[in-house]
Amino acid sequence: MIRLKPGKEQSLLRFHPWVFSGAIARMDPAEEGEIVDVVASNGEFLARGHYQIGSIAVRVLTFDKDEAIDQNFYRGRLAQAYELRRDAGLVGNSETTAYRLVFGEGDSLPGLVVDIYDTTAVVQMHSVGMWKDRPLIEQALRDTMGDALTAIYNKSEGTLPFKAGLNPINSYVWGHADKKEAKENGIFFTPDWEKGQKTGFFVDQRENRALLERYARGKRVCNMFCYTGGFSLFALRGGAELVHSVDSSERAIELTRQNVERNFGQEPRHEAFAEDAFHYMEHATQKYDLMVLDPPAFAKHVSVLRNALKGYRRLNAKAMQIIEPGGILFTFSCSQVVSKEEFRTMVFTAAAMAHRRVAILHQLTQPADHPINIYHPEGEYLKGLVLKVY
Ligand code: SAH
Repeated sequence: MIRLKPGKEQSLLRFHPWVFSGAIARMDPAEEGEIVDVVASNGEFLARGHYQIGSIAVRVLTFDKDEAIDQNFYRGRLAQAYELRRDAGLVGNSETTAYRLVFGEGDSLPGLVVDIYDTTAVVQMHSVGMWKDRPLIEQALRDTMGDALTAIYNKSEGTLPFKAGLNPINSYVWGHADKKEAKENGIFFTPDWEKGQKTGFFVDQRENRALLERYARGKRVCNMFCYTGGFSLFALRGGAELVHSVDSSERAIELTRQNVERNFGQEPRHEAFAEDAFHYMEHATQKYDLMVLDPPAFAKHVSVLRNALKGYRRLNAKAMQIIEPGGILFTFSCSQVVSKEEFRTMVFTAAAMAHRRVAILHQLTQPADHPINIYHPEGEYLKGLVLKVY
């Protein structure tokens, strides 16, 4: 049991799902990953969750005193998560077979991420507690999805705290997928969950790629930080005149080329470059009417926020300098620590630096399969703006 200092119960009473170590008055000895009860200074029950060593000491799983964390608990939470994706039109949809089934706090399962690629679930555990509960989670996944699931791949090597000494190994924990292929709005791609970044694909840009498709007709498109070419594929289908994909990773460029070929065969409108984005824009001679900037999270922690904002600003200013008059810029940040306001101010400053007249056409965020727990606004990590640059 963990007892909080007086006054420290407020955030839990407002259903915030984390307990910081500084709020703890005293605790019974607990192993990392164990289920613990959290009580107020007067002894009143507040929450139950996974204990972990570090600044976030408890990740809350339930605020209900009578709810045990057992097989039924995970079955219930996963059934809810599946139902939400069904509401959003993502279950049994033959045109879109990739979606996020569990998004941590947004699904009241802090520390757990599950992406579905066709009939394979790729699971990432971010907390020791979720790792310890993995047999329960795997069983609940199979119970919830039934025949719609044929394999579970656990990819937690890079997401669990190293210090916990768990030594996880990325591997199939149930079944096996012979073929890695999924569809997003009718476009094929090959999410490489074994070697690729994150779980193999960025499903969070689905709706934003669909929006880009509507803008692409007749445009000369540059997709910066293309990874496996998500935005490029939709620009091509949308009727772009030419599409240039840029990423510093050779492997990403290789996958982009493969994805283009899988969908369009030999496609003369497309070229891909393994190059640094800043370097590419500095030397670009091609004129572009539509640009995408979807960089990796420059800031993973508040301590580097200032530098990250500077990086984003330099990038956006450069893109606004080179885009043709009347061009369209899709610009994003996926850093959780950069707020919507900070992002917008950064874009505003970049526009002023580039000395261009700029109008906001769309304000973008993450889709419904990345739900934001209203008590945990930090979950709103993806921010995007579509700009008209005169
Ligand atoms: N837009 C992509 C996701 C981008 S992820 C999609 O829709 O799927 C970020 C990508 O930026 C990664 O593929 C990474 O290899 C690439 N990257 C990181 N630093 C870079 C740099 N300096 N220049 C170009 N690409 C970079």
